[in-house]
Amino acid sequence: MSQVIETVDGPLTLGELAQIDIARLKGVGDAKQRALSEYGIHDVLELLMTYPRRWVDRTNQQRVADAFPGQEVLLVVEVRGVEERQMRNRRKMVNVRVGDGTGSLRITFFNQPWRARQLTVGLVIAIHGKVEDYRGSLQMTNPVVDLIGDRTGRIVPIYPQSEKVRVTTWEIAALVEQALRRCDSRGIADPVPISDRERLGLVGRFEALKAIHGPDSMTAANDARRRLAFDELLRVQVELVRRKRELERTSRGIQHVVGGDLVGRFVSALPFPLTTAQQRAIAEISEDMGSSQPMHRLLQGDVGAGKTIVAVAALLNAVEGGHQGALMAPTEVLAEQHGTGVRALLDGLVIEDGDNLFGERPLRIELLTNRVTGQDRREVLAGLADGSVDIVIGTHALIQEGVDFSSLGAVVVDEQHRFGVEQRAALRAKSDEAVPDLLVMTATPIPRTAAMTVYGDLDVSALDELPPGRTPIATHWAAGPLAEANVWATVCSEVAEGRQAYVVCPLIEESENLEVASAEETFQRLAASELSDLRVGLLHGRMPSAGKEATMDAFRARELDVLVATTVIEVGVDVPNATVMVVLDADRFGIAQLHQLRGRVGRGTHASTCWLVTSSDNVNPRIDALVGSTDGFELAEIDLELRGEGTLMSSAQKGRSDLRLASLRRDRELIERAREVAFRIVDEDPELANSEVLRSEIALLLSERDGDYLTKS
Ligand code: ADP
Ligand code: MG
Repeated sequence: MSQVIETVDGPLTLGELAQIDIARLKGVGDAKQRALSEYGIHDVLELLMTYPRRWVDRTNQQRVADAFPGQEVLLVVEVRGVEERQMRNRRKMVNVRVGDGTGSLRITFFNQPWRARQLTVGLVIAIHGKVEDYRGSLQMTNPVVDLIGDRTGRIVPIYPQSEKVRVTTWEIAALVEQALRRCDSRGIADPVPISDRERLGLVGRFEALKAIHGPDSMTAANDARRRLAFDELLRVQVELVRRKRELERTSRGIQHVVGGDLVGRFVSALPFPLTTAQQRAIAEISEDMGSSQPMHRLLQGDVGAGKTIVAVAALLNAVEGGHQGALMAPTEVLAEQHGTGVRALLDGLVIEDGDNLFGERPLRIELLTNRVTGQDRREVLAGLADGSVDIVIGTHALIQEGVDFSSLGAVVVDEQHRFGVEQRAALRAKSDEAVPDLLVMTATPIPRTAAMTVYGDLDVSALDELPPGRTPIATHWAAGPLAEANVWATVCSEVAEGRQAYVVCPLIEESENLEVASAEETFQRLAASELSDLRVGLLHGRMPSAGKEATMDAFRARELDVLVATTVIEVGVDVPNATVMVVLDADRFGIAQLHQLRGRVGRGTHASTCWLVTSSDNVNPRIDALVGSTDGFELAEIDLELRGEGTLMSSAQKGRSDLRLASLRRDRELIERAREVAFRIVDEDPELANSEVLRSEIALLLSERDGDYLTKS
């Protein structure tokens, strides 16, 4: 290693560090190398990028003699004895005697039998926890334990440990220290220009690496983390911005003539004023559509935020200049609902037509799903080909099958998560000349910064405001059989008032068959007992689509009072008279899903309620969240927090991912800054010709998989 460092000039790059085998460090023999490799460390870069899980701040450390019952303390102690005991309930208890020079205490671990193997006599450990009094002597129960070994210093880094891998946290710390010392003479290359660093208050990269592994203070540790997290985010953003710019350069869009009066007439004919958020989104879309680059925009808004109006405005922008618009939904049922909704919105709207005696004609809107067949289908297809159909509504199959458009100008896609890159590519291939503008609508509330990262190649418009006058949905938690009985009583009284209700059956992720069986059982039970006086229907995914449609029609027509269903009703179902949503075994659902389900009610003028039923009364933070908030964006943030998605990709990605430190929740501001800097860098230097360090780091650290994940989601 010393060779490499001495013969080459300039600061060490991450690429160079990645080429230095870990075995070249002093003290790493064959056995240690194998262990390190199992741990995931093969080279010096991987070593330096193994960041501490946390730090033990020994400036807060206390002496055992000074600790008293009731107090939260950090103690650094030596293990003096370990004893394992079987309890009456066959569980194991581990008692550990520990002490420092000033006194001793007992630690009791319940349900952690492995502690008996982990904690051996002589080991030095840091323990954090609350001191208790146990028959006159001091005790701690299930404290947080960090093995700190012979590490001294005020702040001790604690590295991730697993039971299998035999590398201790202090061994890693010592190797990191050695590696950093050897880098000292050349330093480590920093891709972020000094001016940005100063403006954003970021410490230098080498300083940050030293401080994250061996900080002088907790402030220094946090500054270091922030700097290194910024590096991760910058790499991702530069890559995304580069792709976005490349797409813009290489594809030509349609320069729509926006600002005509069609959209204005549409808006003024609405029975309500637009929300500020809708106005803003329409303005952003119109600006995109008027430019010569194809639009790639994500429209996100909570359930009921009024996305359809915005989508229709986009379609009309295209129609006004003589192009066509297409609206695509993930399922036929949803396409039909959109068809009905959009026709109603555009009813009576005319467009200019020079060939027509009156100088104008009504808009032509057609539905194209698999259920449109024979002569009807032929007419729609002909109308699309000759340009007489202005707006077509269908499923994603619209662009995938050989449908011929005269001039497709704008495409709106409902529900992003089912519209992947392949479909986007198909869309681009749809037209030999200009690429139609694309608007993707999603009701999945994604925090803005997450959207910026996950959909980094799309621009984002957010409808972050609900139309006024909605009666908020009151959400209650019903725990246990008594509370559940009360729920059914509420359902009956709402029905007596003329309202309708949904009952959603337990989610069984493992098997749709089981889920269907459970829905059937729930249906039988409710229809025979609690809801026997009501007209109850059943809806699930295994029913033939004609059966599903018949049931939905009956519910819409109020021939059914209660609809027992699986999560098939999660998207799009819109029955304003339904005011009660009951979710059974609600603790089996995630926050986002519960929020989507709840969005099926609260669509009319009557006050709505949502009952989250659980069989146990164990506190559940997801249910608490739903009870406490109806704001989808806020819930999305809580969701991220609860799932512990500290780092962006922890759930989607295993193995070497570049995003180790950056957190969607904590680093919101940093994501925005990284995106700004990325735009500036890429716009000044699209191929990164002058940013060799950054370019090679992206190539080195951002795997193909990271990139794909980012655009595919
Ligand atoms: P989303 O698709 O975002 O869930 P929709 O577009 O289906 O929401 O709109 C939900 C309901 O709100 C519809 O009945 C729609 O007519 C109504 N709506 C939309 N915008 C407004 C507005 N600005 N003021 C009042 N009601 C609105
Ligand atoms: Mg909608």
